[in-house]
Amino acid sequence: MNRPASPLLHDYKPSAAQKPAKSKALSWFAVGLGIPLIGVALITALSTDDPQPPATDTPVMRAVNESPLTVDEMDPAEITADVFEPEIVPEPEPIFDKLTLKVGRGDTMERLFRRNGLDIGHLMQIAQLDEARKRFRRIKPGDVYEVTHDEGLVVSLYSRLDLTSGLQIDRGEKGFSAKIIDHPIEIRKRHAYGVIESSLYESAATAGLSDKVIMNIAGIFAWDVDFVLDIREGDSYYVQFEEIWQDGSYVTDGEIVVAEFHNDGRTSQAVRFVDENGRSDYFTPDGRSVRKAFLRSPVDFRVSSSFNPNRLHPVLKTRRPHRGVDYAAPRGTPIKASGDGKVIFRGVKGGYGNTVILQHGGNITTLYAHMQRFASNVRTGTRVRQGQTVGYVGDTGLVSGVHLHYEYRLNGVHRNPRTVELPQAAPIADKYRAKFLAQSAPLLQELEDFKRTKLASAAFDAP
Ligand SMILES: [Zn+2]
Repeated sequence: MNRPASPLLHDYKPSAAQKPAKSKALSWFAVGLGIPLIGVALITALSTDDPQPPATDTPVMRAVNESPLTVDEMDPAEITADVFEPEIVPEPEPIFDKLTLKVGRGDTMERLFRRNGLDIGHLMQIAQLDEARKRFRRIKPGDVYEVTHDEGLVVSLYSRLDLTSGLQIDRGEKGFSAKIIDHPIEIRKRHAYGVIESSLYESAATAGLSDKVIMNIAGIFAWDVDFVLDIREGDSYYVQFEEIWQDGSYVTDGEIVVAEFHNDGRTSQAVRFVDENGRSDYFTPDGRSVRKAFLRSPVDFRVSSSFNPNRLHPVLKTRRPHRGVDYAAPRGTPIKASGDGKVIFRGVKGGYGNTVILQHGGNITTLYAHMQRFASNVRTGTRVRQGQTVGYVGDTGLVSGVHLHYEYRLNGVHRNPRTVELPQAAPIADKYRAKFLAQSAPLLQELEDFKRTKLASAAFDAP
């Protein structure tokens, strides 16, 4: 989805300033595990709540099952307790050397082997194996090979192929053999809850949420909530997101599945939907897009002076209507087109200095003034996409300091871009509507259940 770069960036604190994670009134739990990572199937699968049983291997059971079978074949006289409880003397593991080969520019397998004193005859044998040959042919800088060897004689070789598989070569009695090892990905669902004391970022850091999840929350609700200016103490959110695990280890956070944001008494909800082409987007429970045709703000930084038709002009010192919003931002900050449109003016416009005006659908125009310079690919007649850089913040024209002056006009009439009702992006496609509603209902129910447990425990915490 075409998310605006979040105003939250501005809100970030250096990590040293972050409060350490604490569990007070903020908690997590993992529900359902073990869901395949495939587009639409994923969402359907997410409704299962069964925790995956822990992956316990059972080597002990197998050993016990196998050994008694030998009893019948043995001379009874020889049967002793030792047969049933054989003393396990582990065979000493041969100690081999391990090497990590990193492919550099211009490297070949042969060069890597020679440089590391590995046996070239073994390399020739390994290269006879189909899987290995295929891999070696596509050798590229950054590839890594883990080699176990005995004085340069290769015992085994492993190389990751992609996120979910690796190539394993082993030397046995009959020479080398190759196999592809699967590293399946497992998606775990997590719920999190946070109450905002000062900023979204701090609350999320306290809740132990990663930057990625925080940015995604801000991205989903950026069309509704200004995370710098509109956030109030006591605002809260509930979120269900995916975690990606592999081989029993956490790898990274995935996408947000469903989320709810409470801002100053208003509640916004968003549910993810993945279409048949694998494109995902967020919709309200009734299928409207969470996105708007216009971004609330064309820069990532805070507003220095709001829309005020009767303010004192900072340079002319006279009362002149101010028909836009001024965004104080460092010189050179990119200015983003707030909506898809066409450039109808690019040039110097009196006191506005370097100015770009965009024509959008619905007889809306937006204006960006005092630019230091224009984006090089923006000319009169150019079509631009929402979020595309049209220029850079500066102080050309009649200004008292570096800032962006932004205007929004509907049918030629100035409207306050901070409060004007923005046209909505397209709702969920008709052909997906039924499916979306069927998928979102259980997700919203899970969120509701999670909220209830949080609110119930919060009631106990209250003094
Ligand atoms: Zn202004």
